[in-house]
Amino acid sequence: MESKQQLLDKRYLRMAEIWAENSYCKRRQVGCLVVKDKRIISDGYNGTPSGFENVCEDEDNITKPYVLHAEANAITKLARSHNNSDGATLYVTDSPCIECAKLIIQSGITRVVFTHLYRITDGVELLQRAGIEVVHLTMEKN
Ligand SMILES: [Zn+2]
Repeated sequence: MESKQQLLDKRYLRMAEIWAENSYCKRRQVGCLVVKDKRIISDGYNGTPSGFENVCEDEDNITKPYVLHAEANAITKLARSHNNSDGATLYVTDSPCIECAKLIIQSGITRVVFTHLYRITDGVELLQRAGIEVVHLTMEKN
């Protein structure tokens, strides 16, 4: 039997997966939502900064160094809003990298829920070290 919290977490994760479809990146599409008091206060997907062409990869199919990750886009979007991420939960389709983990820690987010564990796990380890609750929820097809 799944708890109410788990059902809610899975619902937001499904929304993050749908949100990832907005990404025009070809190699990987990542979606992210920041939720506080059952309200979505920010969202993001991986992509180039505002005003840049909507192409993430170079001619050799290498991701351009200035592509922002979904979490970075969601957190920087919060910086331009009246919302506050203190105590919020971040839902993301793929486990955060170490760069995004640093941003998550500094933004006061206290909980991270993700679906796919990336092969490099130093981001997750850093989050845990900072005392952030990290939840890995796999999504079964139903
Ligand atoms: Zn990242």
